[in-house]
Amino acid sequence: MRKFVFVTGGVMSGIGKGITTASLAMLLSRIGYSVTIIKIDPYLNVDAGTMNPYMHGEVFVTEDGGETDLDLGHYERFLHKSLKRYNNITTGKIYGSVIEKERKGEYLGQTVQIIPHITDEIKNRILEVSNNDGSDITFIEIGGTVGDIESLPFLEAARQMMIDYGKENVSYVHTAYLPVLQTTGEIKTKPLQHSVNELRRIGIQPDMIVGRSSVPIPREIKKKISLFTSVPEAGIISAHDVNIVYEVPLLMKEQGASKFLAEKLDLPYKEPYMEDWVEFVDKLKRAEKTVTIAMVGKYTSLHDSYLSIKEALIHASALIHKKPVLKWIEATDIEEGKIKLEDSFSNVDGAVVLPGFGRRGSEGKIAAIRYIRENNIPMLGICFGLQLSVVEFARNVLGLREANSTELDPSTPYPVITLLEEQKGIDKLGGTMRLGSYPIILEKGTKAYSIYGKEEILERHRHRYEVNPDYIEKLAEAGLTFSGWSKNGKRVEIIEYNANRFFFATQFHPEFRSRPLFPSPPFLEFLKASSRTSS
Ligand code: GLN
Repeated sequence: MRKFVFVTGGVMSGIGKGITTASLAMLLSRIGYSVTIIKIDPYLNVDAGTMNPYMHGEVFVTEDGGETDLDLGHYERFLHKSLKRYNNITTGKIYGSVIEKERKGEYLGQTVQIIPHITDEIKNRILEVSNNDGSDITFIEIGGTVGDIESLPFLEAARQMMIDYGKENVSYVHTAYLPVLQTTGEIKTKPLQHSVNELRRIGIQPDMIVGRSSVPIPREIKKKISLFTSVPEAGIISAHDVNIVYEVPLLMKEQGASKFLAEKLDLPYKEPYMEDWVEFVDKLKRAEKTVTIAMVGKYTSLHDSYLSIKEALIHASALIHKKPVLKWIEATDIEEGKIKLEDSFSNVDGAVVLPGFGRRGSEGKIAAIRYIRENNIPMLGICFGLQLSVVEFARNVLGLREANSTELDPSTPYPVITLLEEQKGIDKLGGTMRLGSYPIILEKGTKAYSIYGKEEILERHRHRYEVNPDYIEKLAEAGLTFSGWSKNGKRVEIIEYNANRFFFATQFHPEFRSRPLFPSPPFLEFLKASSRTSS
């Protein structure tokens, strides 16, 4: 059995198509079907690795080291399943391999064209994922909005798939935005009508419509949408704004979305098992007390830059029954003296020092870490957060005032953070960092060991720099504990400073493995420590 569900978007982007796709896929997986999800990004970049988080949000890292779109994070969290780099298809990947084949002469003298060569490549990639994954149902979310020039070849491939596999095996879900007029409170359906018409013009008749709106879509509006889209009323689903994204699958299930879609795909239906999920959402909703977490970073104006970290805090918060309130602290503002540390960290229960790159803002982060350490504020440092904690410690505790990372000052006399050996000589930026999952060995008797409760763990990475082994002894003598190491024992993975209540930093990114029902251990312990300070 091979079933395919394409999810397209209408009216505008950024309306939570990823959540819609993840929610529908989750519901079908919880009926008992094996499900996988592909995100198609119609841009020319080969992957998201070289993209500015300001524009694109977080780069999500898969187990196998893919630098992917942040929607893969949603998919993993909703499906409770690890995906691979091939679950993210881009125009760059498709054209790259078609051009490579052409150069090899594989097209045997043909004129290489969008149809059929690009569309065949797209279909083959979708099939490859579905076959490798062995899944019953493959969801394919097509990024962007119907009508964009970029997405046309993907929509054409989607259209052809129905001809190839039959209409009981391929379904189309269209997610579109329904604006609400502020003056009258009226829900307008015209933009949705236009986007469905655009889809039909390409040759795709949607089977289901998910309406994204700020308010629940009433029956009469559903009826109206049904009439002009020829989708039965049962297939018009309201995905209105909710406070907690994890509510969306429940909202869709209540409206019969999973039943409707299963029937469309000619699949036997039983109610999806959602009890544990309901309990999780209830815990989040019931939390009345708050815990205030400072988020110290450089891309704080776009919170999606740190999406998985935000979600990891939410997952952990369900177990401590407190709602995390995030206070964003912009490192460049500290650096430029626009904000004072005392003001930034007043009424804060804990601080996350966020991942990052480059010089700008780094002195601001170092100043923040000093304040956090000296005021015994619980801290979780991630990646760059670990590296700058080591710099701060070397400067202010060891007294190596000019200590730095060579990423920030290549001629520092005390390079406590240096380029990884294998990074030397690499000149291409795309896909060349130390990426993906590697095992980490934890030292017995340390905080790291008690947090994870075992000797060997697996976590995901994305970095070029690391702690310089030449300084480890001196740093350790001054009180810094190195509690996690790469398997060969050479690479620092975790530091902790146990003179403080909770001062813990990881070279890896624990957020990528955090799941709603299985929070990441460092996030949980960090929140517990922070929550002891909060009222
Ligand atoms: N810029 C640092 C490095 O490349 C940290 C990267 C990160 O925080 N993800 O090693």
